[in-house]
Parts: sequence; structure tokens; C-alpha cells
Amino acid sequence: MTGLIDNTLFIISKATKSRATLLLKINNLEDRLISFIGENPDKLKNFRNTLFHLHNSSGIDNESVRNLPSFKSISSDLGVSSCYVKPIFSVNERNETVYLILFTDEIDKYDQITKDILLSFANILSNQLKEADEEQSGKRYDFLVSEETVDEKLITENWKENFYNVWNLSDDIIFLLDNDGCFLKINSSGALLLNYHPEEMKGKHFLEFVSDENKADVSAAFTRLIHSAEPITFKADLKSRIDKIISLEFNGKTIVKGNKIIGMFGIGKDISQLKIFEEEINRLKPKLTEAQRIVEIERSRVQNQKSIVEELNRLKSEFVSNISHEFRTPLASIIGFSETIVSDPDLPDEMKNEFNNVILNEGKRLAKLINDILDLSKIEGHKITIIKRNFDVVQMLKKVIFKNKAAAGEKGVVLNFERPYDEIFIDGDKEKLAQVFDALINNAIKFTNEQGRVKIIVNNLFKEVEIVVSDTGIGIPEKDLPYIFQKFYRVSRPGTEIPGTGIGLVFVKQIIDLHKGLVSVQSELGNGTTFIIKLLKSIRVNKNEVET
Ligand code: ADP
Repeated sequence: MTGLIDNTLFIISKATKSRATLLLKINNLEDRLISFIGENPDKLKNFRNTLFHLHNSSGIDNESVRNLPSFKSISSDLGVSSCYVKPIFSVNERNETVYLILFTDEIDKYDQITKDILLSFANILSNQLKEADEEQSGKRYDFLVSEETVDEKLITENWKENFYNVWNLSDDIIFLLDNDGCFLKINSSGALLLNYHPEEMKGKHFLEFVSDENKADVSAAFTRLIHSAEPITFKADLKSRIDKIISLEFNGKTIVKGNKIIGMFGIGKDISQLKIFEEEINRLKPKLTEAQRIVEIERSRVQNQKSIVEELNRLKSEFVSNISHEFRTPLASIIGFSETIVSDPDLPDEMKNEFNNVILNEGKRLAKLINDILDLSKIEGHKITIIKRNFDVVQMLKKVIFKNKAAAGEKGVVLNFERPYDEIFIDGDKEKLAQVFDALINNAIKFTNEQGRVKIIVNNLFKEVEIVVSDTGIGIPEKDLPYIFQKFYRVSRPGTEIPGTGIGLVFVKQIIDLHKGLVSVQSELGNGTTFIIKLLKSIRVNKNEVET
């Protein structure tokens, strides 16, 4: 067995390039050299004495060994700067411990492989000593390996195996860097991800594999790492051998020995796919916001439509009550005056004529009202059509104005027609357009007080004819202007309610639209209103009728 122990010690000595390697058994009575490699052990007499006292008083650790004056002189005799003392086997009963002692340059400077070898062989030595001890004494000792040894045993046996399984099987990049940031080790799948063999990456600096854009960030993360006892997380894009960019999230932690950082352990997870998803999410985000905005607009549109429908219903019931009133007033006159004529045969002819005139006018008013309602039902059913023919719009306006002269005169309103042109031809529905201007002039007279003026102006434009119906009447409040072409809409004028149904302007707009013309309104409350109608001009055609 001693031969085996000597061989093991020899391997340790070679692997660690130790100047002197001892296996020293110390108990409370003596210290005994089990095996040694290298320098003459006599040179180490003082050192052994010190260890003996230390073992039997406060115990031995690296720090206590390093601080011994005797060790310092011995180590300088041997030409090494440090010593590694490690209890590898102890038997409680006998207070006996076997120490592995290496006189070597700083153990801290060993690479991982050397450390692994050292720990593995220390473990082997421990087993060999156990067997030798049992052989010698012929009985089994309840031996106990020091706490530190238990840990290291686990590391070199189960833990190491498990660790290497993880190391080799993981899809993540697992690596060890030295204290300069160069790769000591990297797992195969990690290296493969970057299209390298692990050996090729060994000794290369981590930053060599980082994309140019991320180099500064990674350097900053390394600085944070050095100053932190806790693991640090950072993201970086690495560049593979074939210049493929791989996005990774790293968890790194420094490896500290004493108070010196000797390297770094890191795991990197490939988040390229995740990043693509994130980018996709970010790309879709504005679309989502846009979609939400559209939904919001749709919602408020529906809300608006709902309130429009509600408003229409309100206007409709108002219309019903207005229209009943509009019917009742002329009917009351007609019935009243007819009754008077019938019941009083002595009524003078003069009065009879006057009453007949009233009956006639009220009858006409009723007829107009019925026509308006019929027009409205046609508009609602989209049944209204226009029959176009070529006609002189100036001539048509002249007739409409003439028809309204009497009503204007009765009200004391001056009705003027400014027409610097003798004739302007258009293709349109003469009767319907006459109804349009009749309605506008009617309104102008209706909403203009005595001594006011209503003016109709015709402007001959380049391609269009512009007809302006302007009055000096009561005007329309600005807030009502956008709604006056809506069905049943009537400007409310508290105190001075003027009869009406709110359908005249709907008809106007509908007919002008069917002619592909334009209607607009300008008004100032108290100062008057101007309606402007634009229609496409045509050239004079002898006789031509077009139906649309
Ligand atoms: P109405 O039968 O009530 O006159 P209209 O559709 O012709 O219905 O007009 C809608 C509303 O526009 C009227 O209630 C009126 O208040 C306003 N309006 C139309 N023309 C004029 C005008 N020339 N001056 C002032 N208000 C007008």
C-alpha cells in the first residue's frame, strides 16, 4: 500500500510542480513522515515542529501556515513563495490527521485542471490511507474526514460528475473565464452555438466574441461583476464564426479565493428567438394602439349615431306637433270664413270676395304643406329623381321672384333681382330647381322683418353659375348653422316662434346634390342670411331632355 501512496504523491508532486511534497501524519504524541517527494525533509524540521504544535493547539489552516515565521524561512530556503497544507485523512479516536503538504508557488495560480487533479489525487490518497490504516490495525476505524475534505470529496466525486453532466448536456453556454476575462473552459454546446470547438475558444478573451455594438456594455457589466459579491445578469449579442449574431442573456459570478478574484463563472441563455418575439411584439404594438384607436372611433361613431337617432326621433315628434299646427291654422281660417259666407246670405260682396281670397290663400298654403310632406317622403324613400333639360336659369329665377313679389310686398320687404346677364343655360330639372329657389326666397321673406331687403344675385362664373339669395333678416345663430340642412331641424327662437316644419332646406340640399351642385350658407344673427348655390353651366341647346 505504501508503494501506491508514494506513486500518488509523485503524481501530485509532478502535476503541481512542487519543490517538496510531504505526507505527514500528526497525532498528540508525534509527527511521522509517511512519504515525501523532493527536497531533503531534514530541512523541514522546524516547520514540522510548528505544525505539530499547531495541530494540537488551534488546528491548521492555510492562513495559519502562511503566517508562521518558521515556514517563511523554510519556504525561502526551498525557493518557493508559498505552502499548501491540507488535512486529507483523520481518525478521531487517535486525534490523528494526515496532512498533504506542498511547497509550491501560489496555489491560486493553478489552472482549473491542476486544481481538479490535485483534489482528485488528494481524495485518492485519503482512500489509500484509510485502507492502509485498516490493514495495519486489523480493525475498522470510524474515521472522519475533516469538513473541508467532505466538501472537496463531494466536489471531486458526485458533484463533479453531476456538474460535468450539466456542463455537457446543457444547451446553454456554460463557461469559466480567468481573471483577465479569457476562456478557461466552455461547454461543447456553448462553443458549437458559436460554431467553434471548445479548444479553439480557450485562451481567447470573452470580448472577442461580443458584437461591436455590445462591447462597451459587456465591459461595464464585467466592471459591475468585479465589484459585486452577487451574480450579475447582462445581455449581449455574440458573433459566431460565420458572423451570425446570437442574442444571449448571461448570469455571471466571480470566483474568489481569499480576497482575490481568480476568475468568473458564467451561463448564457440563447434569447435570439425571444428577442425576435419581443421585436415582433414591439412592431405590432403601434398596430394594436391603432386598432384600439379605431375601435374607440367606431365606438364613439356608434355613440354619435345613437344620439343622432335619438335627436331624429325628438325632431320627428316635434315635426308632428308642428305640422298639426301648420294644418290646423289654415284649416281653421278656411272653415271659419266659409261658415261666415254660408251662414250670412246678406254678407256684402266686397267682404265675400275678401273672405274668398283668404280661403284661397290658406288653401294654397295647405297644398304647399302637403307637397312639402310628399317631397319629404320621396326624399326619405330615395325616390326623388330629376329630369334634366336645357333651360335658362335667369328666366326661371325671374318667374320665381315674380311669384314671391306679392308676399314680400305684403310684409313690406323689398325683393330685388340683380341680373347683369340676360341668359345663363344649365342642364337641370327646371321645376325642382324652381321649387328650391322658391323655398329659399320664401324663407328669406319669412325671416326678414318689415323694411328689410331680399336680394337675388346671379354670378356668371367660369364653369358655374352662382345664385345668391341674401336677406337682411334675423339671421341664424352660428351654433345652428351646421344643422339647418338636417331633417326637421328648426332654429329655436324663444319668444318669436316662426311657423315651419324643418323640411324645406332638406329638399333644397337634396335637389342641389342630385344636380352635383353646391349649397352653402353664411349668416350673422340679427344681420341677415345668405344662401349660395352653385350649378354647372351648360351651353344653349335647342331642345334636349335628359332623364337621370
Ligand atoms: P322651416 O320650415 O322651419 O323654415 P327650413 O328647412 O326651411 O324649415 O329651415 C330650417 C331652419 O333654418 C328654420 O327653422 C330657420 O330657423 C332657419 N332658416 C332658414 N332660412 C333662413 C333665413 N333666410 N333666415 C333665418 N333663418 C333661416
